[in-house]
Amino acid sequence: MNSDESRPVPVITLKPRHALPFFKRHPWVFAGAIRSVQGDPQPGDEVALHTHEGEFIARGLFNPHSQIRVRLFSWNQAEPLDRAFWKTRLQSAFQLREALFRRTGTPARHSDLEDHTHEAGKSARPTEATAYRLVNSEADGLSGLTVDRYDRWLSVQFTSLAIAIRQEVLIELLVELAQPAGIVLKTEKGLREAEGMEITDGLLWGDPPPRPLTVVEHGLKWEVDLTEGQKTGGYLDQRDNRRALAQYIHGHRVLDVFCYAGGFGLGALVWGGASEVVAIDSSESALQLAQRNAELNGVADRWRSIRSDGFKALETLRDAGEQFDTVVLDPPKLTRTRSALPQALRAYHSLNRLAVSVLKPGGILVTCSCSGLVTRDDFEQMLADVAIQSGRDLRIIEVRGAAPDHPVSPFCPENEYLKCYVCHVT
Ligand code: SAH
Repeated sequence: MNSDESRPVPVITLKPRHALPFFKRHPWVFAGAIRSVQGDPQPGDEVALHTHEGEFIARGLFNPHSQIRVRLFSWNQAEPLDRAFWKTRLQSAFQLREALFRRTGTPARHSDLEDHTHEAGKSARPTEATAYRLVNSEADGLSGLTVDRYDRWLSVQFTSLAIAIRQEVLIELLVELAQPAGIVLKTEKGLREAEGMEITDGLLWGDPPPRPLTVVEHGLKWEVDLTEGQKTGGYLDQRDNRRALAQYIHGHRVLDVFCYAGGFGLGALVWGGASEVVAIDSSESALQLAQRNAELNGVADRWRSIRSDGFKALETLRDAGEQFDTVVLDPPKLTRTRSALPQALRAYHSLNRLAVSVLKPGGILVTCSCSGLVTRDDFEQMLADVAIQSGRDLRIIEVRGAAPDHPVSPFCPENEYLKCYVCHVT
């Protein structure tokens, strides 16, 4: 890092005709857009981005090991990326979540505090949740930092080297602003290599989280495992989609494919009054987590799980003539690269086609994609093809995305990844 504050900030100069996206505040400067680097910046150092004519565009952080050579943070030349800067950004991120959520145990603003049966979105009070995303990288002006709160613990992901290098100051600020019991680090596969980071997952500060840790979401209790669990511990982005489904499925037999900790299926039973859930996942530990969550919420008698590949399980159910009133498809990311996109779209197609084949006429299909590279247009076209080829009619009744604690930056559309479509299929 630039230890000597008086040292001039190194300058990254763009090639001609490459500046427009950065004036429009896109935060990622790829190596191919850069003409020259002046001043010998070290990995993680602060740099200034200039046009080829020497005009200032933005301040950012440099990483010679990543294809994203510079991540931009401030378009104000007079604003250094120092402790005060990080604090302001974190405070702004926290303010949004404070407006969105009411953690269990905090005073009620309305008399219907304990009423969990109201329909999502109809209440004027903040959502009851003890697990939510506090910092969502680019969308909170903090490219490379993701922080999820799970009750009194924070699960942090550094997705850029420059942010990882600043972990001491960031952890200090998180402790000051969020007052957690502990902070753990969890790094997504492949990121260490992409960013050239040498970081070790585990406890960064405070007490280790209990295993399991119980969190609450719209009145539902979940056990999560911050140490061994997937993602940062759970899939918080689907919170409101799980809740939204409830209004359509009273008495339904529900198939929850790619269930992880049981999110959609448990919501269907507890909020929606579904009659039975068959939950499928290829991971034994996910199914165990889901089973415990079914017990915790008193619906284990209506919970059945099958450990299997999602595609294979759907084929087997179809061949056995099984029919469901609702099918939920929430597969993992099916592509990370543009070149694998056609293959991923074919996989979504066959998955959805299989789902429709086990869906009763008049049933509900909830179909999701967390692949950022798959656009809403691609996804809707896929659904149209599935309907035609299945000889069924399909109407989209809700187009949904990630919950509001996962805001999207209009400057960085790549930041939006989750699509969740609720469809009526006849
Ligand atoms: N619906 C969940 C999140 C699902 S995440 C929720 O609301 O919380 C995707 C899940 O797919 C993970 O649990 C993962 O274990 C599972 N998975 C990945 N590949 C799979 C496959 N081929 N077949 C079945 N499950 C798979």
